[in-house]
Amino acid sequence: MPELNPFESAQLQLDEAAARLGLDQATRALLRCPMREYRMMLPVKMDSGAVRVFPAHRVQYNWARGPTRGGVRWHADETIDVVRALAAWMTWKCAVVNVPFGGAKGGVICDPTHMSAGELERLTRRYTANIIEILRPDSDVPAPDVNTNERVMAWIMDTYSMHKRHTVTAVVTGKPIEMGGSHGRREATGRGCMIVTREALKKAGMPIEGTRVAVQGFGNVGSISATLMAREGMKIVAVSDKDGGLYDPAGLDLPDVLEHVRQHRFLRTYTKADHITNAELLLLDCDVLVPAALENVITSKNAADIKAKIITEGANGPTTAKADAILAEKGVHVVPDILANAGGVTVSYFEWVQDRGGYFWDEEMVNQRLERIMVESFAAVADMADKHGVTMRTAAYMVAINRVAAVHRLRGMYA
Ligand code: NAD
Repeated sequence: MPELNPFESAQLQLDEAAARLGLDQATRALLRCPMREYRMMLPVKMDSGAVRVFPAHRVQYNWARGPTRGGVRWHADETIDVVRALAAWMTWKCAVVNVPFGGAKGGVICDPTHMSAGELERLTRRYTANIIEILRPDSDVPAPDVNTNERVMAWIMDTYSMHKRHTVTAVVTGKPIEMGGSHGRREATGRGCMIVTREALKKAGMPIEGTRVAVQGFGNVGSISATLMAREGMKIVAVSDKDGGLYDPAGLDLPDVLEHVRQHRFLRTYTKADHITNAELLLLDCDVLVPAALENVITSKNAADIKAKIITEGANGPTTAKADAILAEKGVHVVPDILANAGGVTVSYFEWVQDRGGYFWDEEMVNQRLERIMVESFAAVADMADKHGVTMRTAAYMVAINRVAAVHRLRGMYA
């Protein structure tokens, strides 16, 4: 079997869960593809005065349970199949934590590391204007993803509000706190990864204190997961960014690494740990591996050599279907992406609720509610896995697809 592209993997995961659930053919067909896709070309005036044209997408996968919600990423190697897969995963992710959203994803194919702040702002505003008809707090709500952040969300919210002639904070989540963002949102995905890792360790009968963790990707998800796991007593032995990683079997001094990144942006100039490649990081002798960078990094080529006993998928789609089968065979516990990184969408939901209600919660309340949802969602997936003798990934899909399919059945077919 050839390695599947991310969307084919997403469809295969759906098929597997649907077969176990005995899902009817019509619902299955409906859930196998996006409800709506937009593709566009964005002309952007560069600082040099030249105009460059960037391909862009927005895929709304399924809105049965509520407004579609999902990140936008600015990335050079993006393809429509990746965006479709991410939109599908977002649908299942919202369902697995039972927040009343559907799933979407968007992206612009560009290399933001070679663009100025002004160029990125013009690109963001043009992207927003191009999809203005489909954005709305009750229809489609973007959020941050790879290479997009609070500042990008602020530009989207401002562009949208200028067009609507009034301020609409709930059109986007992951905003700065000063303009309707939620306390705890920036840390939410990493916090969720930490919570499910802790639950997985408990379930496997492994200690939390001193558990050795390797984290690939040192952006929002990776750096915050690492920080919060260290705070729980786990030992972070490796972290990496796109150029490679740092390794210290005695545990990295995370505050020092974070400070280095704050000052120098990348890990490559850090001198107080050994340097390793991203490929080496995945195969390190550790207890927990947290892939928190990009998709398809754990493949049939390296899965058999992975030594971690638990993999917490901070990134979306880091494991290919073939690799998944190898890991299951080896008895590696994979906490699947749609559960492991659902803390972000959960607090996005809290942000949306706060914006719409005009009443804001403190960080303690956000974190308490996130904790409860993550623990309950982990337990629901673990129960499904135990009951049906399936992996946590298949179980997560079963929980999620069951919920989306139930709503389709209740709503019926408008034909
Ligand atoms: P980010 O841009 O903040 O960080 C990405 C990190 O990955 C950076 O350290 C970057 O250097 C590194 N990286 C990039 N290419 C790499 C490569 N080829 N090999 C190794 N490292 C590489 O992005 P993020 O928000 O942390 O997102 C990371 C992953 O988590 C993505 O898959 C994203 O879809 C997923 N995710 C993010 C959120 C969120 O709230 N930010 C929520 C759910 C899922």
